[in-house]
Amino acid sequence: MKRNKHAHERYLVDIHGIVQGVGFRPFVYHSARELKLYGYVSNIGGSVFIDVEGETAELKHFINKIVKTPPPLAQIERINIRKESMKGYQQFDIIKSSGENGDLRFIPKDMAICTNCKQDIFESTSRWVHYEFTNCTDCGPRYSIIGELPYDRCSTSMKSFEMCPICKSEYENPNSRRFHAQPVCCPDCGPQLKLLDFKGEEITAGNAVKAAVKLLKEGFILAVKGVGGFHLMCDAENQQAVAKLRSRKKRPHRPLAVMAVDVTAIEHQCMLSDKERQLITSSQSPIVLLKKKRTCSLPDIIALDNDKLGMLLPYTPLHMLMFAEGLKYLVATSANISGMPIEYENHKAVKGLSDVVDYFLLHNREIKIPIDDAVAKVFEEREIVSRVGRGYAPLPINIGTQHQLIALGAEQKSAICLSKNGYAHLSQYLGDIKSPEAYENYKKILDHLIQLLRVKPQAYVHDMHPNYLSTQYAMEQQGQKLAIQHHFAHMASCIAEHKLNKPVIGVIYDGTGFGEDGKIWGGEILVGNLEGVIRAGHLKYCAIQGGDKAVEEPWRSAVSYLHKLGDFGLEGIAGIGSWNKGTVDAALKAGLNCFESSSMGRLFDCVSALLGLCSTITYDAQAAIMLECIADKKVESCYEYEIYQDKDGILIGYQEIIKAILTDLRKGTGISEISCRFHNTIAAATADAVVEVGKIHSVREAVLSGGCFENLLLLERVIKRLEGNGFTVYFNEKLPCNDGGISFGQLAAADRIMGG
Ligand code: ZN
Ligand code: ZN
Ligand code: FE
Repeated sequence: MKRNKHAHERYLVDIHGIVQGVGFRPFVYHSARELKLYGYVSNIGGSVFIDVEGETAELKHFINKIVKTPPPLAQIERINIRKESMKGYQQFDIIKSSGENGDLRFIPKDMAICTNCKQDIFESTSRWVHYEFTNCTDCGPRYSIIGELPYDRCSTSMKSFEMCPICKSEYENPNSRRFHAQPVCCPDCGPQLKLLDFKGEEITAGNAVKAAVKLLKEGFILAVKGVGGFHLMCDAENQQAVAKLRSRKKRPHRPLAVMAVDVTAIEHQCMLSDKERQLITSSQSPIVLLKKKRTCSLPDIIALDNDKLGMLLPYTPLHMLMFAEGLKYLVATSANISGMPIEYENHKAVKGLSDVVDYFLLHNREIKIPIDDAVAKVFEEREIVSRVGRGYAPLPINIGTQHQLIALGAEQKSAICLSKNGYAHLSQYLGDIKSPEAYENYKKILDHLIQLLRVKPQAYVHDMHPNYLSTQYAMEQQGQKLAIQHHFAHMASCIAEHKLNKPVIGVIYDGTGFGEDGKIWGGEILVGNLEGVIRAGHLKYCAIQGGDKAVEEPWRSAVSYLHKLGDFGLEGIAGIGSWNKGTVDAALKAGLNCFESSSMGRLFDCVSALLGLCSTITYDAQAAIMLECIADKKVESCYEYEIYQDKDGILIGYQEIIKAILTDLRKGTGISEISCRFHNTIAAATADAVVEVGKIHSVREAVLSGGCFENLLLLERVIKRLEGNGFTVYFNEKLPCNDGGISFGQLAAADRIMGG
């Protein structure tokens, strides 16, 4: 049969995903016109609807173009196409948004300044020259300024800025890059900057950016309001300024992120692979952890005892304009008081940070939702997200959920997850919620997301730890509650992320989680799927003395492990003078404040303390991070280790390992060698245990999760050993393996447990 080249058809197309506020309708409009198709495009609810007709071949091109090359910020999740009888449209239009907001909602994210806007701010003839709040459909703030959905200007913090006639005409012109860009504004009608001194008094010094940069160059510390909150900034090349920032912020060691003027400046200090370059220059613009070059000229105190540096590029016009004044590197760390959430409101920041900073550079565009910078890294050509932040959150993941749920996460690296219509939406990192301010912020973000996504929770999912504030929050709510054990939640996060259906073995290594036997777990080997797991093995228990103090003082873990080993001489061990060994020994004998623990995190702490690296931490996981950083990765050998079988399943022993480390220390073996050998040993013991468990349960797939796998050396060595034994291995990529991913795992498991 002869094919009719000129057949005509009509399609009705629904497109779901992040498709509003990202220039989708003008893109559809131009594509349709180019291909001589007729009909219209419109926002309906949270989706885009297209009614289009024309030649079949062109229609196919059209759909192909939409799917393959949508606007840069769009994220298509679902597309439905129906054929209908022809209507005889004469042109293609964008018509007014209509209908009640549909049920499949996605929240647009905050995106870094685009190439065109960069041009606008540096082009002397442009309306936006030197304007710090320039943005367009392809870039700018979104989630952080949204009060409610649908995403219209009147529901954002741009509501208080009335568009001038020129901006309004661009906003209404489908041929403009700023067509329906909600935050669109210009120097005549948009937000303005102010420079204040530490008392909050305005300094009138002409151009605020120029004045602020002059102060930074002079070594002052500034709080600079960005997209999701304030940064503390100082000249990263000025050691004294960095030291001052550290001491004022009472943050002696925690690595600080550095914003660099451009990619070349980054490459000057750090190794940058193609994948890393792609990540750091992406419109999500995260902090990327990069390996320092030997020639790195930035002061060591930016990231002490660390072989990596967290770097990012300027992602707002304000940052770009600051760097254009001759800066190269700025420390850019979230402005918060220790234990509190990021400052994001002008008056509170001025009050809260007056002891920390010398000046404030702030503006009058309100931040509705605080959000920190995201943190990511590249491992074997894959992006791994360590902190879900600006550009990433809220993170929608299609896992086919059947229920509307709210999962509350853990406590230290908290985050919330909500589900509706098949999707889980993971919130940004909300930090440690133990302080009242952080807990208030946690509840605020939760309420906000419930309202944005219109979730009517059928159940609240929480950790088994009775004292977590997240658990207590769940208990205060009406309706069904479901507890998911901490390490099961970690495992579920990886299973759900990779959509695994068959039972798998989970190697879940972290610091602390409440176990089903009431003990502290954290070196777990589990088997199962999203419906449930059994504990097939674990790191052998050891009584650790000190409770929460043991987390802050790794030397307590060392003394506790040594106590378990019996009397073992400690000559030759660095740093031991500062340990209050006698008291802890006595407490261990008497069983005072001692907790049986299988935590892999505490074993890493113990080794770090024994090697004299870190006795007391000042930031999360410091001891383990230092242990990873000093490891000589060329070392391939292992210590001897023991695997036992008892009523709990396969147990990984530690006695032989610690004894061998002590022997090595006495022999004068270098700590870099010992560290790597220890990593190798844990990897080998893990693989042996997994192989045993695999035999018993006939499973050949493994997932790795838990905060210990932030350690890339451990991750690499465990994967290598498992793959060497014929296992297929999965690990968290899109969401953190640390407790930031717990709520997603809780939700994925609970949804399955609750049934269809
Ligand atoms: Zn732009
Ligand atoms: Zn304007
Ligand atoms: Fe954990």
